[in-house]
Amino acid sequence: MSLGAVRKLEGKVAVLTASTSGIGYSIAKKLAMDGAKVMLSSRKSDNVERAVKQLRSECEGVSVEGVVCHVGKDDHRKNLIKETVSKFGRLDILVSNAAVNPMTEGTLMTSESAWDKIFEVNVKAAALLVKEAHPHLVASGSGAVVFVSSAAGYVPNPFLGAYSASKSALLGLTKALAEELAPDNIRVNCIAPALFSNMSVCVIWKDPLVQEIQKRRNPTWRIGETDECAGAVAFLCSDEASYITGETIPLTTVESARL
Ligand code: NAP
Repeated sequence: MSLGAVRKLEGKVAVLTASTSGIGYSIAKKLAMDGAKVMLSSRKSDNVERAVKQLRSECEGVSVEGVVCHVGKDDHRKNLIKETVSKFGRLDILVSNAAVNPMTEGTLMTSESAWDKIFEVNVKAAALLVKEAHPHLVASGSGAVVFVSSAAGYVPNPFLGAYSASKSALLGLTKALAEELAPDNIRVNCIAPALFSNMSVCVIWKDPLVQEIQKRRNPTWRIGETDECAGAVAFLCSDEASYITGETIPLTTVESARL
């Protein structure tokens, strides 16, 4: 694959969490193809090394580096931002993509430790990462943050009550930070994917019958490919979206998440 003709992110530097596979990797690839210098990250160093190599080989000429970052760890978050600025000299774009779901039971069956884990990784880490990136996003002159929520943030998934609530929280966080950071010329937006082909968060989604129901609820009659999340994020990060902040783009209709 060669670099895109329209490089709308030329000159920008992007950092992404949980970006060594799945939706995160697809977004990283698109941002790099659109001209951004990209810092990939995830918890495991072998995944980071593999993803950096893969992206360099899939997209000739891209500028990509990688660093280990477990978003639940304060020192990892700090190091992610520090390494990005030290490698690339600035920071314009933060894509917060990491999420966990350690359980698939009813909401009231969720243990306290599972609640803590879900909200720590899916919500708190996302907010604290923005805090870490904030001075650099201010310095960039036109910063952009994108959170990865879920259709479950609008239409809670059965057996994923706590996860769904954490994804609803990201919709609120998007609005709150958009207001707070607008004076710094930092835009904060969000995407809400429905069901994508790599979905691993809950075994029920792998059931062929459930997948069939999902397809029928979806106007496109199909499950999304991870690359289909990437264009929306690249747009939200670009100057083409300079008057969009505090918004969430569903991919595709959130109603398709209903079982
Ligand atoms: P995935 O395939 O499960 O992605 C896993 C990625 O996350 C890997 O790079 C993994 O690498 C990294 N990771 C896991 N835990 C991490 C942590 N604590 N800190 C940093 N990195 C971590 O995920 P996905 O399905 O693409 O989902 C990505 C985002 O989209 C999530 O926020 C998810 O809630 C949302 N979403 C997905 C779907 C879907 O259908 N796929 C639908 C709606 C919303 P390591 O193992 O090396 O850490």
